[in-house]
Amino acid sequence: MHHFDYKDGVLHAEDVSIPEIARAVGTPFYCYSSATLRRHYQVFAGAFKKSQTLVCFSIKSNSNLAVIRTLAREGAGADIVSAGELHRALKAGVAPEKIVFSGVGKTRDELSFALRTGILQFNVESRAELEALNDVATELGTRAPISFRVNPDVDAATHEKISTGKKENKFGILWEEAHAAFDRAATLPGIKIVGIDVHIGSQITNLDPFSRAFQKVIDLIKELRAKGHTITNVDLGGGLGINYKAGNEPPPHPGEYAQMIETLMQGLDVRLLFEPGRMIVGNAGILVSQVIYRKTGANKTFVIADAAMNDLVRPTLYDAHHDIIPVQDPGSDTCVERVDVVGPVCESGDAFAKDRDLPPLAEGELMAILSAGAYGAVQSNTYNSRLLVPEVLVEGDRFAVIRPRPSYEDLLALDRMAPWLT
Ligand SMILES: *Cc1c(COP(=O)(O)O)cnc(C)c1O
Repeated sequence: MHHFDYKDGVLHAEDVSIPEIARAVGTPFYCYSSATLRRHYQVFAGAFKKSQTLVCFSIKSNSNLAVIRTLAREGAGADIVSAGELHRALKAGVAPEKIVFSGVGKTRDELSFALRTGILQFNVESRAELEALNDVATELGTRAPISFRVNPDVDAATHEKISTGKKENKFGILWEEAHAAFDRAATLPGIKIVGIDVHIGSQITNLDPFSRAFQKVIDLIKELRAKGHTITNVDLGGGLGINYKAGNEPPPHPGEYAQMIETLMQGLDVRLLFEPGRMIVGNAGILVSQVIYRKTGANKTFVIADAAMNDLVRPTLYDAHHDIIPVQDPGSDTCVERVDVVGPVCESGDAFAKDRDLPPLAEGELMAILSAGAYGAVQSNTYNSRLLVPEVLVEGDRFAVIRPRPSYEDLLALDRMAPWLT
């Protein structure tokens, strides 16, 4: 469910027409819908009414301060994976006691910064990190609240690059080493065990891998409690998939996901934490692009867009499908043509769609690449010296540029000439 619809034959984000934004901002640009962000957050958080639950938005899926603040005002916490994301969460107004810190490579500086900030918990992913965190906390004269992220060795049945819960992945503590890790943590003066954490991957479209992983975690919690460890917070990660293709069977609704969890967790007396990213923001954003040229190849028609893989890398990196629609409603009885939609970057991998049947897209026409709110702008870069794509947030009949397009001066100013070359 999102708020990008045709009104009077023109695509709108809520009550703002996309061509109006394009005139003001130029193309390409990302456009997010506040109402969609809020709705997704509320549907997810509201699904767990019966439990004591904290929903920590995964900042890495969309790090724009205005997006984070929109969600923070609904009550969201934050799941961060770097000091930079902690700065963002704080600046956006997320309370430290609603922030969890994940990631396999937190440096001592990052651990220290987060400790001094007073975050809710560190999701510790290795024995080495545990020792480092103990050192840093002891030096600061405090105790770090930790959950261990355990690796349940469950196949999430998603793209290999976003599968994180198999034992060959770099994430989490090996299942067989979980007991030893908790036992060691309990002896450390700078560490306070508060819970357990699991995140098995992203864009998961079936509840089975979740329920298998969560059942293993529940068994482990019981064993750990029997040994005297305090497990209060159970962080079940993110990963719930979204629909990238109109007409596909939708992934499980948050309501079904919540019910599965509440059934499994019955009687366990824990505080549930979640780290959803994609589910909240994925379908709350689109990438708007203009057709520069059409070109006929040997046996193909190329639609050359002004957006490219540096603006949205998901098709190139994850073989991801994104629906593409014209901004002018082509109507229901329009013909389609089979095209490749490609960008200007000098890489054959720079394509948003291959052999896709689309309504004809003329030169100069605007198109919307859908479901681009998660892992879109955050992964953009300036490859080919293209300017970072701007981001726009819509709220009802208003819109605001929440990350402007830099100038070429800004881009070049990032470099410095070596003194011997001046
Ligand atoms: C990426 C990530 C998430 C968010 O995943 P989604 O699929 O976007 O919900 C949550 N937790 C951790 C540890 C992650 O790395």
